[in-house]
Amino acid sequence: MRWSKYFLQTVREVPGDAEAVSHILLTRAGMIRRLAAGMYALTPLGLRAHRKTEAIVREEMDRSGALELEVPILQPRELWEESGRWGRYAAEEILFHLKDRKGGEYCLAPTAEEAVTTLVKFGITSYRQLPVTLYQIRTKFRDEIRPRFGLMRGREFLMYDGYSFDADARGLDCSYRAQDAAYRRIFERCGLEFTVVQADSGAIGGRDSEEFMVLADTGEDAVVRCPACGYGANVEKAETGRRQSPWEEETAVRLEDVSTPGKGSIEEVVEFLGISSSRMIKTLVYETEAGFAVALLRGDLDVNEVALKRALSVEHLALASEEKVERATGAPVGYVGPHRLPRGLRVVADESVRGAVNAVTGAGRRDFHAIGFALDRDANVSDWAVFARARAGDPCPRCGKPLDLARGIEVGHIFKLGTKYSEALAAGFTDEKGENRPAVMGTYGIGIGRTMAAAVEQHHDADGIVWPLALAPFEIEIVSLNPAEAATKEAADSLYEELARAGLEVFYDDRDERPGVKFKDADLLGFPIRVNVGGRALKEGRVEIIRRRDKSVRAVPRSEAAAAVRDLRDELASSSLSPPERAGVRASPGGAV
Ligand code: ATP
Ligand code: MG
Repeated sequence: MRWSKYFLQTVREVPGDAEAVSHILLTRAGMIRRLAAGMYALTPLGLRAHRKTEAIVREEMDRSGALELEVPILQPRELWEESGRWGRYAAEEILFHLKDRKGGEYCLAPTAEEAVTTLVKFGITSYRQLPVTLYQIRTKFRDEIRPRFGLMRGREFLMYDGYSFDADARGLDCSYRAQDAAYRRIFERCGLEFTVVQADSGAIGGRDSEEFMVLADTGEDAVVRCPACGYGANVEKAETGRRQSPWEEETAVRLEDVSTPGKGSIEEVVEFLGISSSRMIKTLVYETEAGFAVALLRGDLDVNEVALKRALSVEHLALASEEKVERATGAPVGYVGPHRLPRGLRVVADESVRGAVNAVTGAGRRDFHAIGFALDRDANVSDWAVFARARAGDPCPRCGKPLDLARGIEVGHIFKLGTKYSEALAAGFTDEKGENRPAVMGTYGIGIGRTMAAAVEQHHDADGIVWPLALAPFEIEIVSLNPAEAATKEAADSLYEELARAGLEVFYDDRDERPGVKFKDADLLGFPIRVNVGGRALKEGRVEIIRRRDKSVRAVPRSEAAAAVRDLRDELASSSLSPPERAGVRASPGGAV
């Protein structure tokens, strides 16, 4: 491809709303362009990288035995009412919905459990037809609260979505493992360093659920990992071992109120009383669909709201407003205490305050705190749970060694769903005994654009993108230093044709621009191999081959250039297939079907 005939404009200015490196670089490289919030056009160059990502996913899924299909993106409300998702998704406002001319209601599907399960309902009648895994790679729509980071969190985006159907839980284990193995191959081939962590299964109420995380500072998820034993979890799901408490070995003293005028926050009380924040008991009032609930945890810890929802068995949770706190507890915010709450109010305590004595908490009246507080003696706890957010350095729940905390981009998700959808949509089959049973399902997703963006997050330098070979829009760029000069033009043209004939993907910068401009663009576009043709080297009968990753330069005779480029390309191809050790993952169990 010649740049002079291509549709590609690199951009000097960083887009104003761009925070993530991938968003900035993909925009500057002219690969994506914003049309509106969360809506991006892929230019011809952007589409090439996007398609390569998609092709890797398709190849590995086909290899795993999954079967590709397509279901409509526009789906009727009735189908979503059957599964019970219309109400919930509409409440969360994630669903794009619209009406037709007759008033019929539809949504633009954010995933396709309903549609695919319906297909299976009509297609599968006997256990003999199971298992089957069906997938598609199609556009999804979600009205994200905060679309951002370019392709990473769009409102319209391309996603692989797969659905497995098995006769029983053991079968589901197998299908799930086959997906897990395919995911590992996909992300390794994309040149990504990733880690697989336990995820929260959310309101769908499935069992096992794991996320594939690409570690990067811009990641929107926090991931907890244990370097000692390999435990890993999304912080929403992460557990911790027992933390040391300041009151261990202490005996209870007398409870008394002390004056703490105007000291409503933990920091203020800690400073005023000269204590550590871990000696305080935080008393937080939440509003849920089931009424108010009070959560107790140690003063130096924060609430993991996902875990608290789980502990309270509620779907919605928000800190109560000042006014509501006072109404629910009789005390103003900052001074609520667990011992002076109205009867009947639900109180759930985190394990971090188990056995607390000599603790400090609100006194239940303005400008006073209680000291010498003993939780078992002085308050009534309705439930115990674990809902404090894991921190770096907390003990690992498995081995007790200190945990690490990192940021991650969720590129893929695998999920054991169970029978929720097959029951709701009556997708059953007849088992060996002739009884009707619902299919046991798994659901799987990979963001194509997000994976491509994550590759840029992990592979770039100060000058631009450093594409892993497998995702690079073109593998090789030829830069003609002076297209106006006959000898240079002839040498560059002929090399371009030679490489293209050899089946290599070559982009040829034949524009009438200064070499400096072209070099800057070449670094920005980040194709793995660049060949400079012209200047003094060409006068000596040579061209320069530059490896983008380390910018190493090698001058080779023009006659040997094509072979040298091919060798370097093959070398990059074999080294980019990183062994599992390098990718930080264990060899996958089970393997493909
Ligand atoms: P997130 O927590 O990031 O919102 P999710 O858990 O809601 O994602 P899933 O329903 O698990 O997403 O979707 C499967 C995959 O689709 C994700 O792992 C991610 O790679 C991709 N994905 C989800 N939402 C978006 C989006 N708004 N833009 C781009 N890719 C997305
Ligand atoms: Mg997910």
